[in-house]
Amino acid sequence: MKTSAVIVAGGKGLRAGGSLPKQLQDIGTKKLFQHSVDIFSSHPGISSIALVVPDGSEHLYTPYIGSNVIIAPAGNTRSLSVRSGLNALNLQSNDIVLVHDAARPGVTPDIITDLIAALDDHDASAPALSMIDAVKRKTDKGLETVDRTRLVRVQTPQAFRYGLIQKALSESSEDVVDDLQAVERLAGKVHLIEGSARLNKVTHPEDFSNMSKLLLTPDIVRVGNGFDVHAFGPGDHVTLCGIDIPHDQALAGHSDADVAWHALTDAILGAAALGDIGDHFPPSDPQWKGAASSVFLKHAQQLASEQGYKVQSCDLTLICEAPKVKPHREAMRASTAALLELELSQVSLKATTTEGLGFTGRREGIAAQACAVLSGPGPAA
Ligand code: MG
Repeated sequence: MKTSAVIVAGGKGLRAGGSLPKQLQDIGTKKLFQHSVDIFSSHPGISSIALVVPDGSEHLYTPYIGSNVIIAPAGNTRSLSVRSGLNALNLQSNDIVLVHDAARPGVTPDIITDLIAALDDHDASAPALSMIDAVKRKTDKGLETVDRTRLVRVQTPQAFRYGLIQKALSESSEDVVDDLQAVERLAGKVHLIEGSARLNKVTHPEDFSNMSKLLLTPDIVRVGNGFDVHAFGPGDHVTLCGIDIPHDQALAGHSDADVAWHALTDAILGAAALGDIGDHFPPSDPQWKGAASSVFLKHAQQLASEQGYKVQSCDLTLICEAPKVKPHREAMRASTAALLELELSQVSLKATTTEGLGFTGRREGIAAQACAVLSGPGPAA
């Protein structure tokens, strides 16, 4: 099974002004269509891409695309253009395909990943935004207020199994406003993920400057550090980064005493200026007695995410004479990466001793320090 994308850039884009169709106008250093093509091309889950462009204008696009992008000719309607892109990809029924408008240049790798994941138990997935403004319907007698709580604005990319979208589009007699509409007619189970202003369509001249601000504003980078110590007590193993390591003593503490993940939890909270682990998980609260530290660490990541920050990398240093950390280092990196949904290359772990000095030198406990780098748009204004 493979996953592909159809990017539709077939329109004339005349409402955007300028002498070129809007998809060929610049946002920053790239053409409008290039932003989406580059994001899909570099996504590890996407194997091939069809870019649908007006017939006869291929030469305007080919200088800006890579070898995994096929050009397909646009049709007279959106659904004919999408079918042209689908036909160019040579897909099997169970393959996944995402259909996207080139006029929405703000698509991100995370959105693509989430849409693909949703197809595990749905027929289709798409980003959608709830309605903020009051919504009215014009009638012959005047205006009628519509219940906006049941309305959403659906964006693209939209993800489908190829067999379903192919059937849906071939059975659509009139043109559909989006591909989801064709699937709805077959009563497909659709999963909506949270949409984003980044996915708004660039239609009018002023949309270019608004989208430029969203796309070209650099992420805010935040750095935090954390430190923790737990003393040894009776027991037969210590838990470090969720890995049980045999030892002639255990670490004493209210929770599972995972000193490494406690330091990292504090580093993430620190980067997002969200206080410390004690604020969120007070030792006085019995519900955290014996709790797995994975709960603390994951919660810190979630809180940071709510503040608009994503963990980009972390570096942990364990300070002890024993147990030996090195034989377990890769398992500890892997468990941390798995919990935080990071690549292994984003998680560093080191160990050192204090040359016999101090409490760690006297083998009275383990200290850990951590640094975390977070980035993102930051808290919404
Ligand atoms: Mg602790």
